[in-house]
Amino acid sequence: MKFSIVHAGYFKLDGGAMFGIVPKKLWQRLNPPDENNLCTWSMQCLLIENGDRKILVDCGLGDKQSEKWRSFFEPHGDENLFDSLRNCSVNPEEITDVFLTHLHFDHCGGAVKIDEKGNYVPAFPNATYWSNEVHWNWAMEPNAREAASFLKENFVPLKEAGVLRFIDVQKELVEWLPDIQIQFAYGHTEALMALHLDVDGKKYVYCSDLLPSSFHIGMPYVMAYDIRPLVTLEEKGQLLTQSLEEDWTLIFEHDPAGAFGKVAKDERGRIVLSEKF
Ligand SMILES: [Zn+2]
Repeated sequence: MKFSIVHAGYFKLDGGAMFGIVPKKLWQRLNPPDENNLCTWSMQCLLIENGDRKILVDCGLGDKQSEKWRSFFEPHGDENLFDSLRNCSVNPEEITDVFLTHLHFDHCGGAVKIDEKGNYVPAFPNATYWSNEVHWNWAMEPNAREAASFLKENFVPLKEAGVLRFIDVQKELVEWLPDIQIQFAYGHTEALMALHLDVDGKKYVYCSDLLPSSFHIGMPYVMAYDIRPLVTLEEKGQLLTQSLEEDWTLIFEHDPAGAFGKVAKDERGRIVLSEKF
């Protein structure tokens, strides 16, 4: 098995929303905001080649939203999902599986495109798309805090096209494919799926929004978007402790400067970023 980062471009989100209760005086040193208090974030997806499967994990925010909508999130940068896949020598037709960690627009917008007739269709015509039923039901009837993040046109067309499958939600890690395990997390949204990968004897965790960037390693750095911040604390604490003990490499979907990170303990005993690459 091997994997590559597939960069789907950058977008902007309010710094206050991304850093929760942390004062701007502190977070602005990590990710300096623009004049509207917006910080730049990456959408770093993953291409996993496992046996004869080519699995795309998340797919950025896509390009089918209105200009007005885009003006809020300011997608920018030279990178886009399809060019990045091409750089890995993979055509959209060759993708066998699209794994959606959760259904917020910045993770699944690229899953569905508008065809020549103006219909919403799966962007990867030969792929099976993966979510889970608990999260799906949550996204279909969203609470007011998450409603703006769950855009039905990003995922309902997958169900209508008959290409959607659900993974069984369990408490423990689920063995999905050889060397790929799924972890369910509940702090950011209901039943988000992070991925644990074993490659050449090394463990990598694609954290999704359980740990969106290296700036979120510090315990108080929890997104205001999270529906259960105390659960995020617990889940993040556990992930970081295990990463430290077992020398895991973390993959940050939204980090604007580097996808991979490792952690260490500082002189005060806190788990901190030790390297980013
Ligand atoms: Zn996100």
